[in-house]
Amino acid sequence: MHAPTLTYPFGENTPAPGELIAIAPGLHWWRVPMSGPLKHVNGYLIDEADGGITVIDTGPNSQVSLEAWEALLAGPLAGRTVTRVICTHMHPDHVGLAGWLCRRHAAPLLMTRAEWLMVRMLAADRRDEVPPEMVAFWRAAGWDDAQVANASERGWSNFARIVSHLPLGFVRIRDGDTLTLGGRDWRVVVGSGHSPEHACLLDAERGILIAGDQVLPRISSNVSLTVSEPDADPLGEWLDSIAKLKQLPADLLVLPGHGDPFRGLHPRLDALDTEHRERLDAVEAILDAPRRAVDCFGALFRRPIGPDVLGMATGESLAHLRRLEVEGRATREDRHGVWWYSRAA
Ligand SMILES: [Zn+2]
Repeated sequence: MHAPTLTYPFGENTPAPGELIAIAPGLHWWRVPMSGPLKHVNGYLIDEADGGITVIDTGPNSQVSLEAWEALLAGPLAGRTVTRVICTHMHPDHVGLAGWLCRRHAAPLLMTRAEWLMVRMLAADRRDEVPPEMVAFWRAAGWDDAQVANASERGWSNFARIVSHLPLGFVRIRDGDTLTLGGRDWRVVVGSGHSPEHACLLDAERGILIAGDQVLPRISSNVSLTVSEPDADPLGEWLDSIAKLKQLPADLLVLPGHGDPFRGLHPRLDALDTEHRERLDAVEAILDAPRRAVDCFGALFRRPIGPDVLGMATGESLAHLRRLEVEGRATREDRHGVWWYSRAA
């Protein structure tokens, strides 16, 4: 449940397909349509003094998103040039058309180093067959033969299909940097847990935070343990990032990656923090007997977990179990490749 203290200054006024809504002078909001339950990702555009445009987040490399871009470039942005592309993080809905846009307008790409490297790394892995390490990871989480077979049928290299090839070089942005966008100062504020080095952008003077997926108003961002770093503690990083963002002013207008612009950053961060801590408690409570990641879905999620969300649910479950382990509240035992977690004595 989101806190009732959130307000949505734009109310029902959301951008229609191909339409821009002015958030502040020189700063525009639009929505890139995409398939899947989220339906669209928010894009933000900043007018530059030379007539150029800075683009923040792009949508995935899919037909419907491409068509929306074509309509925007032929419509409200006709005659304008994209002079800079910034991606908050590595996920396809944010970075998918960055390469395409950069090539089309000879624009530089700005990202944090870890996010850029992750995209380049994942896009370079074009194997069709699911690698054995991935299968071992699924098995470790408790997947049965049918679940492994079903996921294996979908193949492996989906990432490269929904992310257009990035340019060979990029411009690194890092935590604390100040970027001049549209003649104004924007500070880079890095968070972690949903992705390794997620960039938010803060215009402190006007009180505006472009938040990407680091803070969403109505849904909880996916925080997953993944095969690329099985000993990581993404939920610990996520909780630390919540504490870090709480240092920002409470009255910011937050422009999220999905959902509507809102005010109420602090109550939203508090709600996210509470939600994860309650879920940690709920998982710990069922560890009186050894459990695998798949045994914890009932303690974590309200709805049953079908094949379409099994991967994400598994990653979330593992992230919570790993956090309990790091906090000394649970121990993990590897029995023939399956991870069993028990409450710490
Ligand atoms: Zn997203």
